[in-house]
Amino acid sequence: MDLLNCPTCGKIYVNHSVRDVCDECYRKEEAAYDKVYRFLRKRENRAATIETVAKATEVQEDLLYKWVRRGRLHTALFPNLGYPCDRCGKIITEGKLCEECSTGLKDELSIFEKEKERKEKLKKTVYYSQDPSEKY
Ligand SMILES: [Zn+2]
Ligand SMILES: [Zn+2]
Repeated sequence: MDLLNCPTCGKIYVNHSVRDVCDECYRKEEAAYDKVYRFLRKRENRAATIETVAKATEVQEDLLYKWVRRGRLHTALFPNLGYPCDRCGKIITEGKLCEECSTGLKDELSIFEKEKERKEKLKKTVYYSQDPSEKY
């Protein structure tokens, strides 16, 4: 039997299913999901953003992000929903990072490699200049 701490309320609960929160929070989340879904089902709300949904339904944005991440709220149906990029917080609809961050990350890695090389060379230079024969 797995005992887990509920990430929402901190209560200890038995992990008997795929739920990631305790029964009580799960029920609350389901009620919130119902509310959100009822809101989004209306044609005029299809293009709502997370912010709008959060305001209209009084459901926490984090919860909305979780549902989008897990595909419970489909961005194919609700094109303006999304969740924040792990790095810069920009709203994205797939993966963990936005496009800029994933390409930026690659650039940064190569910059880092070059910088390392440069420092290695610098170290050698410093070493030579400290050679006592060079003192005047
Ligand atoms: Zn809980
Ligand atoms: Zn980003």
